[in-house]
Amino acid sequence: METKQISAPDSPILDLAELERPALEAAFDAQGLERFRARQIFRWIYRHGVTAFDAMTDLPQQLRAALAAGFTLTTPQIVTRERSVDGTEKFLLRLGDGDQIESVFIPDTPAMTFCISTQVGCAMACRFCLTGKMGLVRNLTAGEIVGQVRVLADALDMRDKRFNLVLMGMGEPLHNYDETMKALRILADEHGLNVSPRRVTLSTVGLLPALERLAREPLMPNLAISLHAPTDAIRGDLVPINKKYGVADIIDACKRFPLKRRSRITFEYVLLAGVNDAPDDARRLAKLLSGVKSKVNLIPLNAAPGIPFERSSAEAIDRFAQILADHHLTVSVRKSRGWDIRAACGQLIVDGTRRSPGQHLATLAFGN
Ligand code: SAH
Repeated sequence: METKQISAPDSPILDLAELERPALEAAFDAQGLERFRARQIFRWIYRHGVTAFDAMTDLPQQLRAALAAGFTLTTPQIVTRERSVDGTEKFLLRLGDGDQIESVFIPDTPAMTFCISTQVGCAMACRFCLTGKMGLVRNLTAGEIVGQVRVLADALDMRDKRFNLVLMGMGEPLHNYDETMKALRILADEHGLNVSPRRVTLSTVGLLPALERLAREPLMPNLAISLHAPTDAIRGDLVPINKKYGVADIIDACKRFPLKRRSRITFEYVLLAGVNDAPDDARRLAKLLSGVKSKVNLIPLNAAPGIPFERSSAEAIDRFAQILADHHLTVSVRKSRGWDIRAACGQLIVDGTRRSPGQHLATLAFGN
């Protein structure tokens, strides 16, 4: 059995990092190989962090050789790794084609959390976000999204530990819908990393058609909506895509979103001094969210050169939070982590991509 060549000599080399287990099983089936080998290979790659076929010692020698001939396994490479005084670590990773992304490890939140990117750059251009300044370079593949988890788990020696994932790194996950969902399926594989979607939070500006598609997914992550303002007038100025998908439509979709008992949608709200932090804004937000199973996460702005806003004062933040609490909303204020290494929210930006700046602004059509 195992002596057969795994793929015809002229067939393309397959990247194991991009294959869901059923696809790998189908490929083995088609070659007359045993399906259960796919489970073994998943365990090696995702549980043990083994990337060399030769080290997969419970596979017959000939299968290992056949794998080497017919498959590759692309893994992001660590370019730099920086550690903040608060324990947060930022990884600059180089992808197979030379493009670079950042991923962040945030310990003790109280869980261990990996903050993962879904795109190189981002097309959303939110005015307070540095990644938005890059424009969109390209979508990540599912293998590159999962690859960040593989690399961080290895580097931090956390393969056997529990961790949460937040899709809050570079990019807009719902603008790269198919690869993001495929990544969630690979991550959830019981023979692989076995990360339940309940431990994953997908953060989005609220691309409406994609949000509605997400509502029908069998694997459902937790949902966080980057709202940032209670009205279209304010939000339209901060989040350009709001001109296409406005506040009322997003809230409406959230009301219809299927939630398990006890689970709630998180609404993220970056507080910008004098822009969206007035007591009236808090009252309007409370009214807007009445009837939504929600919790509000207030994020004091992480200011940066080139970002035309200032962080709200501590008093304004407290007052805003208090008004929401008075209206019986659950509210938390996000602590800025990794500030000293520019790993905090909205600070992820890379310039060392392989392309010239003129080629950066690939624009994908919105609204898949
Ligand atoms: N595109 C997705 C996920 C990435 S951003 C989204 O927009 O939700 C993750 C969170 O960081 C978002 O809520 C975003 O609004 C917030 N953020 C962006 N820039 C920030 C900044 N300068 N300070 C604080 N939070 C910021």
